[in-house]
Amino acid sequence: TTAAYDLGAKDVIMLWRDDYCTREHWLRADDSLFDGVYSWDAERLNTLAKEGAGYISIAAADPENLKGVDQERQRRYSIASNRDLKDFYNLEMTNGFPWCVASVPITAWAEKVFPELKGEEANEKLWETIFKMVRITEDGDAVEAWKEHCGNLERRAKVLNEMNLESVHYKNSLGTDLVVELPENCRWLAGGDTSKAGFKFVANMPTEEIFSAPKRDGVNGVLYSARPLVLNGNIVDGIRFEFENGKIVKATAEKGGEVLNKALDTDENSRYLGEIALVPYDSPISNSKITFFNTLFDENASCHFAFGEAYPSSIEGGDDMTEEELFERGINATAGVHVDFMVGTEDLSITGKTRDGKEVVIFENGNFVF
Ligand code: ZN
Ligand code: ZN
Repeated sequence: TTAAYDLGAKDVIMLWRDDYCTREHWLRADDSLFDGVYSWDAERLNTLAKEGAGYISIAAADPENLKGVDQERQRRYSIASNRDLKDFYNLEMTNGFPWCVASVPITAWAEKVFPELKGEEANEKLWETIFKMVRITEDGDAVEAWKEHCGNLERRAKVLNEMNLESVHYKNSLGTDLVVELPENCRWLAGGDTSKAGFKFVANMPTEEIFSAPKRDGVNGVLYSARPLVLNGNIVDGIRFEFENGKIVKATAEKGGEVLNKALDTDENSRYLGEIALVPYDSPISNSKITFFNTLFDENASCHFAFGEAYPSSIEGGDDMTEEELFERGINATAGVHVDFMVGTEDLSITGKTRDGKEVVIFENGNFVF
């Protein structure tokens, strides 16, 4: 709060949540509450978003906090919040306001990441690790480090944009064999973004990815996950997806399959991909060999996709298009979910096909070739 005022914020509003109250709410609140957002709550979020307020979200939770919670309640509530917070989510997805997701340790989470440590020791270790992942060092200048890092990501995004890819083909020894078509005029994005009011921001800290959106009906083959995923307060691991013309027609998991399928059934667009993201296997997060059980970190350790809603900016001019226009251009413009899941392995290869019919190598042994 102090830092935000120091930087000239007009106001600083803290929205506080904690695991204990959240879990009690999901388990015990009146059933009618899961079909809508309180009007005053929706009004607050939507109004501030329309004013262009910056949002900083601190993502820190026990990864299994919602284990055993009624999945149907979660599904109903994602539909309700998508409807009632439509202005907020639309503006978030189209750079209508600057936002950032970052993290701090809490004990329940830190002890899952470092099971050999307890309490304060686990917290300390997670603080150290987070600082390293977000390029905060004792002697370095973190802001400069971020500028340089974003510059590097943007350079690769530019190379990908110049390739003008029609499709990419993923293969690895887990059994992944997937062809992903890309919509015309798609854009690869990375690092920082600029809000409509002209504020530069980095939406995720850390971030290592270069992303775009797949063609909604152009995904075919088999895809295996490579790291566990925390989904609605549950761990899902060992996912196998089968795609037909963009749709996930079969989804199984060694752990959490029911939670996964419930999320896929949120609405008719949730079984289509909304994001394709490239992350080298040799990224600092991946090299740490730590599983964070927190998507903010784990998605930046590995190539990933997201099922559900796409970022409109994934195609040229998309931020100013209507939902119908975006669907026409071939991207999955709206869905009740956006769930990132990790697929990158040490031996992942990705080859691309350009619109003028050339084959290009993009990934070899888990890493960019350029
Ligand atoms: Zn991503
Ligand atoms: Zn995502």
